[in-house]
Amino acid sequence: MKRFRGLIVEINRQCNFSCFFCPVPIEKTKKELPLTKIKELLESKEVERYVLKRNGKFIYLGIGGGEPLLHSSINEIIELFSNKSGYVVLSTNLSKIPDGFMDVLASHENVIIQVSLHASNPELFKTITRVDAFMFVLNNIRRLIERVGSRRVLVNTVVSEKNEDDVFNIFHVLRKLGVSKLRLHPMIVDGRAYTISPAKLKGIEKEIIEKDLPFEVELVIPESDGEIAYITMDGVLSNNLFTAYKKDLK
Ligand code: SF4
Repeated sequence: MKRFRGLIVEINRQCNFSCFFCPVPIEKTKKELPLTKIKELLESKEVERYVLKRNGKFIYLGIGGGEPLLHSSINEIIELFSNKSGYVVLSTNLSKIPDGFMDVLASHENVIIQVSLHASNPELFKTITRVDAFMFVLNNIRRLIERVGSRRVLVNTVVSEKNEDDVFNIFHVLRKLGVSKLRLHPMIVDGRAYTISPAKLKGIEKEIIEKDLPFEVELVIPESDGEIAYITMDGVLSNNLFTAYKKDLK
């Protein structure tokens, strides 16, 4: 039986963006898992059985959605995950920062914030997310780095046919903001195929190496069977976000 090194929990399905590649069935109205249910989920037999722990704690927990910062108990969820796991990654579009959020982050050092940014300019940002929020996100990344330091801020860019020529412009924007870590995810839709060609990907990889960029860039090739499990709000445990709505490990 495979045991996973970590677990990402879908805490809500509400989002204020409509990214064209989004794999989650997004709702515009509030749809979230209450804090008590999230606790139950983390303590469930299935999670116990499939997800590794070390010294009674998870090794890695991810907070996912939807947009997690729209969850009405996000600050309590961060505290819960931080106490239950060695480290935590919170994935967000960072368009809105809730009250108390920065204070909670400042006092939970094991929480990394992964911000989605898929464009270097407002027009392309809007084409991809269908929302006019580029400057808000940039400003919030700056505020976040000022408060918690660049060590705990990671930017995630989904590379598709829409932004494959913008990747190096994104590097420049991030460098000016003080971001030191970037993760590039070639887009896959439902596990079917990369939407950018393997040759283009190789080219990006080559340039990353040749340009000797002054920050960490990780090129993530999605696998169908990952090390990190994913659990939906309905309790469907899967080996991969892209199959979470199809395949139940139970
Ligand atoms: S920000 Fe994330 S959850 Fe929201 S629409 Fe985009 S990909 Fe989906």
